[in-house]
Amino acid sequence: MPEIEVRNVGVIGAGVMGSEVALVLAQAGLGVVLVDITEDALTRARQSIDNALVLQKMLRKRDGVAGSTVDRKEIVGRIVFTTDLGDVAEVDFVIENVTEDWDVKRPVFEALDSLCKPHVVFAVNTSIIPITQVGGVTGRPDKIVGAHFMNPVSLKPMVEVIRGYHTSPETVQAMLDLLATIGKEGVVVADSPGFVSNRVLMLTVNEAAYLVHERVAEPIEVDRIFKGCFGHRMGPLETADLIGLDTILLSIEGLYRSFGDSKYRPCPLLKQLVHAGLHGRKSGRGFYDYH
Ligand code: NAD
Repeated sequence: MPEIEVRNVGVIGAGVMGSEVALVLAQAGLGVVLVDITEDALTRARQSIDNALVLQKMLRKRDGVAGSTVDRKEIVGRIVFTTDLGDVAEVDFVIENVTEDWDVKRPVFEALDSLCKPHVVFAVNTSIIPITQVGGVTGRPDKIVGAHFMNPVSLKPMVEVIRGYHTSPETVQAMLDLLATIGKEGVVVADSPGFVSNRVLMLTVNEAAYLVHERVAEPIEVDRIFKGCFGHRMGPLETADLIGLDTILLSIEGLYRSFGDSKYRPCPLLKQLVHAGLHGRKSGRGFYDYH
């Protein structure tokens, strides 16, 4: 497969992850077509990208780091914000970041497959959905690869890269090359629900939620133990609020379905918080209150 230079990237989904992925790509000088289904989502994404750039500038200035004159307008100007998926027809690479729900992701990949040029690689940013399953609904399973970015994308140097059953070595290399362009390193693993990171993390978060549900400890105590005793920077429930409790619930339910193992049964408290609209930081409340 001849190497294709990546200049423009389609980023599908402009939520927590998609907006940050768009930002790091634009900061690396790449053109981005950022797609979401509503203008509201795009407005929020534009705002969060702008806020992130303002914050970065302030931190650079405070630390006396060169580049504090980073041109926000120029970076944001590299991003096309659109609700029309057809606008990705000419991109060289796609990174999908839509809602963690197979019924939402599936039609997106079916549409992308008919819209994009045949050589274009599709990276799937998912918490637990198997990459081989995504490959199976496209006519290009060799060009489908998992790119499990960590949140917040701009601060995390490592990305879990997942090789589906049919993913070609060239596709994995193209993914690693694009990551290198945006200053990130990939760790390549084989395909399995939840991969390495979320098979462990989601189970930990769910069990931590059970401890609160059973009144063994308050969220703050659970998190203090992980930070103070194990040296983690964040406890599992703070992490859950950062990820989004809706995404956590969809992920643990997906693991439960995939493995048919009762150890992944979702904690009732987690379900209740999500049903009550307490989705963590992005909604202002989750295990903690952010107001
Ligand atoms: P989110 O709910 O913040 O954003 C999802 C976005 O997708 C929304 O803006 C929604 O409007 C949009 N969307 C839904 N259907 C669409 C469609 N057909 N076309 C275009 N856009 C569509 O979710 P998120 O936290 O950004 O997660 C996105 C993906 O990244 C999920 O698969 C999630 O599991 C994965 N992920 C999330 C995290 C995290 O910490 N939040 C970390 C790693 C991976």
